[in-house]
Amino acid sequence: WNEEKSKRKASAAFVVIGHVDHGKSTLMGRLLLDTGAVSQRDIDKYKKQATELGKASFALAWVMDTGSEERERGVTVDIAQHYFSTDNVDFTILDAPGHRDFVPNMIGGASMADLAVLVVDANQLESGMKGQTREHILLAHAVGLQKLVVAVNKLDSTTPAWDQEIFRSVSAEVLKLLKQTGFTEENVAVIPCSGLSGENVAKAPAASSGAAWVSKEHPTLLQQLEKFAPHLTSIDTVKKPLRLQIADVFRGGITNPLSIAGRIKSGNVQVGDSVTIQPSGETATIKGIEVSGEGRDWTVSDDIPTLHLVDIEPQHLRSGDVVCSSQKPVKVVKNITAKVQALDSLLPQRVDIHVGRLHVPGGISHLVATEDARGETLKKKPRIVKAGQRAVIRLALDDGVPLEDGDRIVLRTDGSTIAAGRIEAISL
Ligand code: GDP
Repeated sequence: WNEEKSKRKASAAFVVIGHVDHGKSTLMGRLLLDTGAVSQRDIDKYKKQATELGKASFALAWVMDTGSEERERGVTVDIAQHYFSTDNVDFTILDAPGHRDFVPNMIGGASMADLAVLVVDANQLESGMKGQTREHILLAHAVGLQKLVVAVNKLDSTTPAWDQEIFRSVSAEVLKLLKQTGFTEENVAVIPCSGLSGENVAKAPAASSGAAWVSKEHPTLLQQLEKFAPHLTSIDTVKKPLRLQIADVFRGGITNPLSIAGRIKSGNVQVGDSVTIQPSGETATIKGIEVSGEGRDWTVSDDIPTLHLVDIEPQHLRSGDVVCSSQKPVKVVKNITAKVQALDSLLPQRVDIHVGRLHVPGGISHLVATEDARGETLKKKPRIVKAGQRAVIRLALDDGVPLEDGDRIVLRTDGSTIAAGRIEAISL
């Protein structure tokens, strides 16, 4: 893979967040169409079906929903189905937006993401800022996403269309909220666009149109995504032991009865390799590899491959499990020390611990100390950690799970997020 890798493009993955109906699916459909990932013929097919149902404006959005439809029909599809490429970067859109179980799904998706795209309807500033927009921004920050592109969408339908004042006031409001949440200015970009009519998504608006001002000050959404995309993986990461958290498991294909998909955190893997699955400790053989829908005989860190596995029973492959090197498998642990930011007050209490797609019940066993922003101890053994404070805590998990130092964790109770941070130390 060494030589091949030098010819490789950078790969980047992002999650799409924002209030329902603000145009997330339509915008992604537009990106896929204008980058050639789906054809106009496909869109026309959807348009015909959508028009028959009186929902013509949803034709582009349906591109994003094909995954779930196919999934319901039991056809093998990988999470990397929604991908598109530019000359410089292979992009993957993680998570079809509009998922019913959004928050756990977003935690899982975000753990694989390099950046987030926040879609805001320019006509719906108030409802958006009060509703899911705010919740998603808080969550994106909590799960450790640093780079965020705001797509101020539907500017074709403001009154008047492409009104610069409306764009400016929407940008100012969103930026204010992002700053309050902890995003830094250099990691945020605001892009005016219209997913439905397509201006400034992958193509700059025509100079004669009302949207002409856009190009003077702003790149297209696609150009901005390229700017924020990470560089090629370092060779050091590729040489580390294999680690891939399973995001999805697919069963029942005819040629490949058992397949998994996820993002490779470190290492590399080739067809024919034997790998270990944790926590079960079972081994499996790699029978086939697909990256962005193409067969390959190798794949390296930062790719989001689908791996076809043999010599393993299906019950040993669950989302959240880790595919790893058999020489240096990831440890299965029950006790962790974590550095977190509290979003709600923390006591010794029961919690659900989320690490990407993995979730396990457990308890906060000790509040070790509260810390200031520089990591200096404020108080040892506090009785309670208040919302907004940083703290070191210990967690005892009900089951042994594959985790490592540095993994990002999110703590939830009763469906709300109470803390987020990183694992500092693990013990069996
Ligand atoms: P989601 O729930 O955020 O994924 O939103 P959808 O993509 O399903 O869009 C919701 C509605 O807004 C649909 O009727 C779309 O046609 C419409 N819509 C989406 N983007 C635009 C846009 O850029 N301009 C206009 N005028 N309508 C849009």
